[in-house]
Amino acid sequence: MVDRMTRRAVAGMMGAVLAVVLSMAPAMAQKKLNIVATTGMIADAVKQVGGDRVEVTSLMGPGVDPHTYRQTRSDIAAMTKADAVFWHGLYLEAQLEEFFHDLAKRKPVVALAETLPKDKLLGDEDNPGRNDPHVWMNPRLWKGIVEAARDQLIKLDPKGEAAFKANADKHLAEVDALATYSDKAFASVPEASRVLITAHDAFNYFGKAYGYEVMGIQGISTESEAGLKQIEDLVNVIVTKKIGAIFVESSVSDRNVKALVEGAAAKGHKVVIGGELFSDAMGAPGTYEGTYIGMIDHNATVITRALGGAAPAKGLNNKLAGS
Ligand code: ZN
Repeated sequence: MVDRMTRRAVAGMMGAVLAVVLSMAPAMAQKKLNIVATTGMIADAVKQVGGDRVEVTSLMGPGVDPHTYRQTRSDIAAMTKADAVFWHGLYLEAQLEEFFHDLAKRKPVVALAETLPKDKLLGDEDNPGRNDPHVWMNPRLWKGIVEAARDQLIKLDPKGEAAFKANADKHLAEVDALATYSDKAFASVPEASRVLITAHDAFNYFGKAYGYEVMGIQGISTESEAGLKQIEDLVNVIVTKKIGAIFVESSVSDRNVKALVEGAAAKGHKVVIGGELFSDAMGAPGTYEGTYIGMIDHNATVITRALGGAAPAKGLNNKLAGS
C-alpha cells in the first residue's frame, strides 16, 4: 500500500518535472514566429522587421506575377502550419482573395497595403472602386508597409516589441536613403525624357512621386491582354515624343515591348530596350536585387541611366550587379 503510494507520488513528481521542462523548452529554444508572406517585397519587409525572432516563407519567387498567381498544394501546407499569413492586398493577389478571406476565419491573415491611408492610394482606371496596388514603387509610401509589418508583429509577439521597433527604425532609415537617392537620380533626367514605357501599368506611384509620364502596354493587372490598338497608340507616342528607351519587366513577357521596338523601327524611329525592371517581383533570393532596397535601387539606376540622367552604375550602395 505504502509502496504503491510512493510509486504514485514519484510518478506524479516526475510528471510535474516533465511539465516544467516542457514549458521551458519553447522559451529556451525561443520558438520563432512562422510567417508566410505572398510577394518577395512583403516577405522582405517582414524579414527586415522580424529579424531573428521570425521565420519567413515567401510564396512568390523571382519572375512570378502576383496578379495571376494561384496557391499550390505546398503553399496551402505552409499556410496551414504558419502562425500568420501576411499578404499585400488591394487586389494584387487577385486569385488568392477568396482563399485568404476564408483562411482569415482560422488564423491571422493581414493585408499590409490595406492599412495605408486611402488618400495616399491611386485608383485603377480599368476597375472603378479599386486601388492601384503597386505602392512599393514609391519608397516613401513603402515605409507605411514596414510600419504595418512592425505593428502586426508586435501584436503576434509582444515580447519582441523592442527588437521589432529597433529593426524597423534601422530599415526605415535605409528606405529614406533610397528615397533621397531616387529623388536625385530621377531629377537628373532631362525633362523631355521623363516618360516611362513598360510592359504593364506598375509604375503609376513612381510617376506621381517623381513627375514622370508613365505608360504600360497592359493595364494595372496583367490578367487582361493588351490589344493591337494599345500597341499602335504607344508606337505613335514613342515616335512623336522621340522616346529613346523603353523597358521590359522581370515578371511579364517581353513580347509586347519587343513589338513596340519593331513598330517604331517600321516608322523610322529607333527606340532601345533600356533594361529589365523589377516590377512585381524582386531579384533572386540571396542577391542584393532580391531585397526591397536592391530592387528599387536597380530600377531607379537603370531608368535614370537609360533615359539620359546621371546615376552610378552600381547604384546607391555600390552593390548592383550592373546593367
Ligand atoms: Zn502589376
